[in-house]
Amino acid sequence: MGKVSIGLRGWRFDEDAVFDADGRIRPLGNMDEDTRERIVRLSAMMGEPCDACYLVHGDEDIERCNPAQAIYGEPLGEVLLCDDHEADFVYWFQEEGGKRLAGERELQGAFHDWFADGGRSPEGFELEHVEEDPDSVPEAPDPDDELPGLEEEIEEMDDEELDALDLDLTDLDIE
Ligand SMILES: [Zn+2]
Repeated sequence: MGKVSIGLRGWRFDEDAVFDADGRIRPLGNMDEDTRERIVRLSAMMGEPCDACYLVHGDEDIERCNPAQAIYGEPLGEVLLCDDHEADFVYWFQEEGGKRLAGERELQGAFHDWFADGGRSPEGFELEHVEEDPDSVPEAPDPDDELPGLEEEIEEMDDEELDALDLDLTDLDIE
């Protein structure tokens, strides 16, 4: 037990606050607001493309974008990153002033601007966890596997709250 990432690296959750003893998601209504927002946003973001890839390739070349493997920032101001681009974000955050925006939704736009302007991590800047199997193509995490019971929980939420979180239910295959 302790802090865990779910589906995407980056955001960390208190495992006991999110899952019950059977490993199913707890009632969203009983979670504190920050945890609930993050879980709902996280579920919507799984399977989305990396922001940096998207800035490079855009909609017209969407199939060249890697699926996101990491999520940083605040709900509704998330930055999604693939394994290749996570280093650019971490470099920007640590060395190029991104840290100033920690906890702010503006972080997302500021990183996008920097990246779109050609900002990149320098040669040799590496993240420690990127080593395992460099040739394997990362697959997008599946919210059904990562958050069992979430669909039922989301059906219980009221529409206003879901609208506030800008959740597209079609991403979750909920009728
Ligand atoms: Zn990328």
